[in-house]
Amino acid sequence: MKETKSKFIKVRCADCKNEQIVFGNVSTSVTCLVCKKELASPTGGKSKIAGTVLEVLE
Ligand SMILES: [Zn+2]
Repeated sequence: MKETKSKFIKVRCADCKNEQIVFGNVSTSVTCLVCKKELASPTGGKSKIAGTVLEVLE
């Protein structure tokens, strides 16, 4: 398995303030579990985070 610098990121949804953990390198879009807003989208490398990054978890 290829080693990456991927981390988990705690994101707050801009719309409903739900806090959710997303992978730092998503391969598919991640949506908010509450309001379905897109929180992270794949860019080939790092995830593009749409909400507010609260914390980066190792
Ligand atoms: Zn939301």
